Amino acid sequence: MTKYLFFTGGVVSSVGKGVTAAALGRILKARGLTVAVQKLDPYINVDPGTMSPYQHGEVFVTEDGAETDLDLGHYERFIDINLSQLSNVTTGSVYAEVIARERRGDYLGGTIQVIPHITNEIKRRIGLVAEDSQADVVLVEVGGTVGDIESLPFLEALRQMRADVGIANTLYVHVTFLPYIGASRELKTKPTQHSVRELRGIGINPDVIIARADHPIPDEHIRKISQFCDVEPRAVIPAVTSDILYEIPLLLEETGFGDYVIEKLGITGASKPILTEWRQMIDELRQPKRSIRIGIVGKYVEFHDAYMSVRESLYHAGISNNRRVDVEWIHSGDLEKGKGWELFQGLSGVVVPGGFGERGVEGKILTAKWARENKVPYLGLCLGMQVMCIDFARHLLDSDEPNSTEFDAHTKHPVISLMPDQHNLSDMGGTMRLGVYPCYLKSGTKAANAYGQELVSERHRHRWEFNNQYRELLSENGVTLSGLSPDGRLVEIAELDDHPFMVGSQFHPEFKSRPNRAHPLFSAFLKASVDYQESHLNGSKGTAEAATEEPSK
Ligand code: GLN
Repeated sequence: MTKYLFFTGGVVSSVGKGVTAAALGRILKARGLTVAVQKLDPYINVDPGTMSPYQHGEVFVTEDGAETDLDLGHYERFIDINLSQLSNVTTGSVYAEVIARERRGDYLGGTIQVIPHITNEIKRRIGLVAEDSQADVVLVEVGGTVGDIESLPFLEALRQMRADVGIANTLYVHVTFLPYIGASRELKTKPTQHSVRELRGIGINPDVIIARADHPIPDEHIRKISQFCDVEPRAVIPAVTSDILYEIPLLLEETGFGDYVIEKLGITGASKPILTEWRQMIDELRQPKRSIRIGIVGKYVEFHDAYMSVRESLYHAGISNNRRVDVEWIHSGDLEKGKGWELFQGLSGVVVPGGFGERGVEGKILTAKWARENKVPYLGLCLGMQVMCIDFARHLLDSDEPNSTEFDAHTKHPVISLMPDQHNLSDMGGTMRLGVYPCYLKSGTKAANAYGQELVSERHRHRWEFNNQYRELLSENGVTLSGLSPDGRLVEIAELDDHPFMVGSQFHPEFKSRPNRAHPLFSAFLKASVDYQESHLNGSKGTAEAATEEPSK
């Protein structure tokens, strides 16, 4: 019998509900159980693929090409599993399905209503994850905060689940926040009490309350929450903010939450938690280390969530290279205006991540030029690979003309362009090249050395491709096209020959990196950055000794 844990949020959003669910997933997996996860997002977009990163943060791409919520990234990294499109459900996708059925006449003249039609569809989707994964435990997280109008159908569906699959198989976990009042120096439990009352009004009595706080939580607060919210004291789990994200499973384990879940859900066959490796990783992270400054150049850099997986992958590569990575966020739009170049001083490496649209792209091309001319390690991800090729073509042809047709539809040198079969697309949603594709690596190249294998499979999310008409120009003049699709038609990785490490991939390696298994390209990039730091930069803060120049005019 599948066991279900339902996560709701209270008080405020962004308190780490996703990370908490992911961390619980890790400690259940550490007990030998199989775990599946699903995020229910109450917004009306069919998926986050068409949403601005400012609104939604990064779009996380699964193996099967679903564009999903960034919490799925936390789940994959913490639990070390690959999720599928079934793991992200939105109001938009639920309604789209129900309305399509209604148009087909499937409801035989019935009136279509939120209850039961929408709620049934939500429950069907939850069931699909259970069925597809055959997991012992399914974790379901509802986005937003209890009290939001739009999450009501999801909460109603979860309420019904208890009767459908049995009390013994369901556990409701409410994640709340205890605000800290500076003047009186105390944490407050009242918002938690209100939020639980709200949840009860909907018909859900939480079995567990996870109290998030930025300060240690006194026992008396735990007792108070227990008393006011009808949850036994051991089911009130303190979750104090940690400076190391990946420590959360260990902190959660210490509270006894894992054992509590096993007991309450009557799970048989769980072993003692084996977290030795994870613990070693955290001990390793706790050791003081030399820091290394790596720049991320993008147009959404004020909002770090927009580059969540990229930043995490850099941290993972830091773990495997014995460095603490300090990210320097650099706005590509500023660079175009000649501003912000001082931030490049003392960088040991620079990453240009993915992006869409014209704004800020010239700043990214200039970044590639800077890394090329100063021989500073560069990792280009998707758009970052495209701008690297554009810069090199501009350099070879001594012209500003080379571009992507995404930014200049009539450029004389479309180094990046659409493939012939892509020209007639009209819908923006879900029509990109999405999900995993195989890629063959050319032996002896930096990419092949990084992976140590010949065939890899990586996740894509882009529309434009390297234009094969420019293969000769680039590959005969200093660029190696080190990764190609199996039919040889698509350039997946390009790298500069006369450079310590300038590699760009058309895919997004950041979606496959794990804390305990840094992605090979990130790891190789960071290793090159460490070499650069050791040979060019001095001082633990990475202060510049060898000054790097702004890109030449
Ligand atoms: N905008 C580019 C394309 O669609 C790059 C996409 C990306 O970086 N994810 O091809």
